[in-house]
Amino acid sequence: MTLKEAYQQGKDVLVKTGTPDADLDAWLLLEYVSKISRAMYYAIPDKPLTQDEESQYLHYIERRAQHIPLQHLTGVQEFMGLEFQVNEHVLIPRQDTELLAEEALKIIGEAVKGRPEGTFEPAGGRYRLLDMCTGSGCILLSILHHAGKSAKMKIKGTGADISQKALETAQANADSLHIQAEFLCSDLFEQVTGQYEMIVSNPPYIRTDVIETLQEEVKNHDPILALDGKEDGLHFYRRIIEAADKYLTKGGCLVFEIGADQGEAVSSMMGCAGYHNVIVKKDLAGLDRVVTGVYDR
Ligand code: GLN
Repeated sequence: MTLKEAYQQGKDVLVKTGTPDADLDAWLLLEYVSKISRAMYYAIPDKPLTQDEESQYLHYIERRAQHIPLQHLTGVQEFMGLEFQVNEHVLIPRQDTELLAEEALKIIGEAVKGRPEGTFEPAGGRYRLLDMCTGSGCILLSILHHAGKSAKMKIKGTGADISQKALETAQANADSLHIQAEFLCSDLFEQVTGQYEMIVSNPPYIRTDVIETLQEEVKNHDPILALDGKEDGLHFYRRIIEAADKYLTKGGCLVFEIGADQGEAVSSMMGCAGYHNVIVKKDLAGLDRVVTGVYDR
């Protein structure tokens, strides 16, 4: 079977089974199996796959047609330009969540602006960042990587999660990306100590009754623990906002990812809890996606 025939057959199977992004996923699986990039493909579409490549490709296509997420087949997802290992224990990083990392990076950039390189050392130490519900660690690790590069600033990063299995994935990601971070197995703040200049979080925020309506890829393969925001979807925002003031330094920032219909609810909760400069940011689709606020005690 040639590359071209494989792509055509893979795409046909995925289209027929109503797989989301059939065309793209057929490409990505072909690229993954053959190690031939799409750019190269156009020069050599008639190159035959080896027997092994062909059977591996058709196996992956079959699995994808059963709505196994592409990322569980390839084992990776790119986020903020970095490659993260993923599995059934962590939420697959979403592109929308890059806005959360970008907003956090902007705030950190502002904090160091005008200070000579390497001299930004709050509390005589380092800027401290806590990622609550860290999952794969993609938010924490991408902020540490990019802030370290652009601001040349040392940041101490901590990721907390209730799932030990998720933390093992986060630690594996830190190791493979060569990023130093500490991970805590904790039910929200239970095991958290110390003070932070910033707390970021993409907590579970889907209403329990909505989970059933999500795509099969999501509801059957992303951990429900990472999705379920309980009855009104706001449970974890409430609990994090309630506790965060004990862990934020004066002027510290709380940065949340939110669901598209939660901007008003989360920003008013933050307002009531004493945060100022509470701003809701929209994602590329024009939907409310991130809320930021500053805590001044
Ligand atoms: N954005 C995810 C989804 O749409 C939900 C992530 C979350 O609950 N934090 O599936």
